[in-house]
Amino acid sequence: MTSRVVIVGGGIAGLAAAEALSRTGVFQRGEMQVVVAESRRNTGGRAGSFVEPSTGQAVDYCQHVAMGCCTTLLDLLERMKLLDRFQCYDELTFYHPQHGFSRFRPSRWLPPPLHLSSALSSLKHLTKKNQREIRAALWRLMRTSEFDLIDVTALDWLRSNEQSEDTLEKFWDVILVSALGDVPERVSMAAARKVMIDGFAGARHASDVWVPRRPLSEIFGDGFREPLAQRGVAFELGHAIRELNWDAETNRWNVERSGADPQVADHVIVATPWHISRRWFPQAWGDQPTDGRSDRIGPATAFASSPITGLHLWLDRSLTSKPHVVMVGTLAQWFFQDPIKTTENMSPAEGVYHQVVISGRHAGSDWPKDKLVSEVVRELSEAFPEAGTPKVLKSRVVTDPHAVFSVSPETQVRRPASKTSRPGLHLAGDAVATGWPATMEGAAISGQMAAKSVLGSLVATEDQELSVPSELKRGWLARRLIR
Ligand SMILES: Cc1cc2nc3c(=O)[nH]c(=O)nc-3n(C[C@H](O)[C@H](O)[C@H](O)COP(=O)(O)OP(=O)(O)OC[C@H]3O[C@@H](n4cnc5c(N)ncnc54)[C@H](O)[C@@H]3O)c2cc1C
Repeated sequence: MTSRVVIVGGGIAGLAAAEALSRTGVFQRGEMQVVVAESRRNTGGRAGSFVEPSTGQAVDYCQHVAMGCCTTLLDLLERMKLLDRFQCYDELTFYHPQHGFSRFRPSRWLPPPLHLSSALSSLKHLTKKNQREIRAALWRLMRTSEFDLIDVTALDWLRSNEQSEDTLEKFWDVILVSALGDVPERVSMAAARKVMIDGFAGARHASDVWVPRRPLSEIFGDGFREPLAQRGVAFELGHAIRELNWDAETNRWNVERSGADPQVADHVIVATPWHISRRWFPQAWGDQPTDGRSDRIGPATAFASSPITGLHLWLDRSLTSKPHVVMVGTLAQWFFQDPIKTTENMSPAEGVYHQVVISGRHAGSDWPKDKLVSEVVRELSEAFPEAGTPKVLKSRVVTDPHAVFSVSPETQVRRPASKTSRPGLHLAGDAVATGWPATMEGAAISGQMAAKSVLGSLVATEDQELSVPSELKRGWLARRLIR
């Protein structure tokens, strides 16, 4: 008998689940059908693009980057033959208004985690005292397990580990806000450890930065759909799922769609974002008591969303040849110079494209768009004085209020597993308990977890062995030092 799996949501999590299922024997023998049901007309979800009306070009809602430690995502892109649509950089440039530019490049010769030492010393905006404090905290982090940090906020842990206000502001705020999308007083130290240890200290290429050089709508749109459709995965785009109802008589799910006939499914993978999935299945997210006792309801702060803003600037000139810069002590947090070369072949009158990313709530959150743009452009002109004063030909400010979930201690302990107690119901999406913050990597892992959960309840042996990429291999010293 053929089983039918409907994946609700075609973001990276849903695509990763479809890709994993399409590799299995049951699928290839025709014993399983896989349908991706996505409400929009394109797949990719938050990793997507809008079309700039004046030029007709695809511009990403917000610049996305992956790191070398994102092995599941990179492996997935490789399987889809899309890794060449990303550019890998093994160094970062930092900028501080009072100290100018510094290059952060981990040593190629020293074993991890010592490879970070010279890179840290090269950051001109950090004093010797800042560096001593950071090294001491990193050492303590390496010797503390993630489990022991889950219910403590990063700010509390960092303060109790003697990080001064200056070090918090110039180092921890910068790294944690851009990686976790929220400030240290709200995020769990376990999530911060994930960034610092897995993303920097643990392995040589962990901190490499992978930047898309094609629009995200192309990579996670046709780039994924065409090869998956060739394998036999069906895509139904443009109809939102309204309801999912279990039919106890047929032992199947009824999937109710807007503007289309309902579908039936033996298995449903709900790969919508947390703020949608929680409305449908509150118990799976720990929002409702399972035994009628109200004290089982968790804190209201769990799964709060955190915003990210992308400022899209078309300027009358190119500001720099640097591809990207991490900005410290400014409203702008990350600066990118036309990573997908949207404007390379256009007339100068169309402008040169630049993007600035600001994560979390920030000083300019309530400002009108024009004020935000002019303040950020002022910061950029100070950073790149040799380019002169740029004129803004066109700008767009795109803020996603639900960009990421805040990885607070309350959230960390309540993230659900893919496997649920309901028959045939599986969860995916970046908020599932992957151990990762809201990232493309977390989404890719969650999709594979959901595929495994489906297979676990479907077949006895052979197909349960879905190969999953391993994490970056830690070197000999890192293995000895990191708990
Ligand atoms: C501004 C911004 C910047 C970011 N920067 C980075 C970054 O630099 N690096 C990084 O790794 N991550 C970044 N992220 C996070 C990353 O985009 C997400 O973690 C990841 O894309 C989540 O994928 P997902 O599949 O879990 O969810 P989503 O991408 O949200 O996919 C869910 C899908 O479900 C669909 N859907 C919703 N409701 C329904 C319904 N009723 N019926 C059918 N379909 C439905 C949606 O349309 C969507 O396609 C950023 C996110 C944002 C918003």
